Amino acid sequence: MNHDESRALYDRALSVMPGGVNSSVRATRPYPFFVERGDGAHVVDADGNRYLDYVMGYGPLLYGHDMPDPVRSAVQSYASDGPMYGAPTEIEVEHAEFVARHVPSVEMVRFVNSGTEATVSAVRLARGYTGRDKIVVMQAGYHGAQESTLVEGEPGDVHPSTRGIPQSFAEHTIPVPFNDRETVTEVFEEHGDDVAAVLTEPVLANKGIVAPVDGYLQHLRDLTDEHGSLLVFDEVITGFRVGGLQCAQGKFGVTPDVTTFGKIIGGGFPVGAIGGKSEIIEQFSPAGPVFQSGTFSGHPVTMAAGYEYLKFAAENDVYDHVNRLGEKLRRGITDIVEDHAPSYTVVGTDSMFKTVFTREGPSDRSECCSAGCEQRESCTRYDYCPKTGADVGDAETERWERIFWQEMKEQGVFLTANQFESQFVSYAHTDEDIEETLEAYKTAL
Ligand SMILES: *Cc1c(COP(=O)(O)O)cnc(C)c1O
Repeated sequence: MNHDESRALYDRALSVMPGGVNSSVRATRPYPFFVERGDGAHVVDADGNRYLDYVMGYGPLLYGHDMPDPVRSAVQSYASDGPMYGAPTEIEVEHAEFVARHVPSVEMVRFVNSGTEATVSAVRLARGYTGRDKIVVMQAGYHGAQESTLVEGEPGDVHPSTRGIPQSFAEHTIPVPFNDRETVTEVFEEHGDDVAAVLTEPVLANKGIVAPVDGYLQHLRDLTDEHGSLLVFDEVITGFRVGGLQCAQGKFGVTPDVTTFGKIIGGGFPVGAIGGKSEIIEQFSPAGPVFQSGTFSGHPVTMAAGYEYLKFAAENDVYDHVNRLGEKLRRGITDIVEDHAPSYTVVGTDSMFKTVFTREGPSDRSECCSAGCEQRESCTRYDYCPKTGADVGDAETERWERIFWQEMKEQGVFLTANQFESQFVSYAHTDEDIEETLEAYKTAL
């Protein structure tokens, strides 16, 4: 594969953009390929190379790169009518009604412009509603680039995870290990009356994909109820993907007080949203005392794209298709791993998948999950499958980045560049694509 054009573009980019990119994960080694255009499940780079794409914009692109017809015509029509106004439009109401109709926790929605903005606003909302300052998050969970959640450490020993955030901010955040009932229970015993919210992804999807163990999400629900704290699910990735239109909360049967959305609900355009019971969401200004505002919020083109995106999923076999291919891919990778790398763990659910390069595990996998780790206690690998973000961090992360990812790319398969971010099957992928991908895994693993 020739990459001369991408190399030259990256050279230019390095002079005018930090790291040559506008979002850190894009700066792949030794230099990223620059995309010229999308084509169904493929992307074509500046040198004309075609890749089968499982990055899918890091989550938003449920249909791949070709917009379904109703989405395309809505986008074109709303853009040509005049892109935005600073006054409300019907399409915002329509989108909000759709989300409220399908997602168990949602009666009302506030739309914003990114997942980050959604989680920032949700944390402010939880603090405003409860009059408390502390929030509990999962170690290595991801909620975007926000000051309250870019922290690391243990309860009682918390630090910002980046330069530029005052230590005093981090002190209001308590990170606990995902799937660890005891630690979060202890935190609530000590600080329960000061905790505004527990904020978690229902499935850690930015750190290898870690599924919740049986009863963990319900445990968080019970603890927050007992202590008058809010349970906030960050469904920016899982929303309208895991569990289909009811989202992960429907799939797992645990209803949070507040849900944050992003990615898919904008149909490929910048978006975020905060949803929940009216009593809570109405704390946002102008209805309530918690300030929240945005020039581009509820942008008509985004709202039209997002609404038509979801409506198309409701009216077609979208989730059946992506979930079936997701399962086929996870099943195929599981078989390959058994032969080529028996210590590795295949993870994911619905249309998400990843292979965590775990270092240990029994070689007998006969009783194990056949299409992605479900955290079954009866599985012989139960003690070796990642339960927390730290477990994923302990895997062979360098191997993914430096060898495996590069080899897959050279074979024309575009995966997320490091061990941590989830990968996605889209409606544009076919059975043949999955078979081709499995051949590439066979060579690269
Ligand atoms: C992507 C993501 C975010 C951040 O969304 P942006 O639109 O990138 O700001 C927040 N939470 C989760 C779970 C995400 O996956």
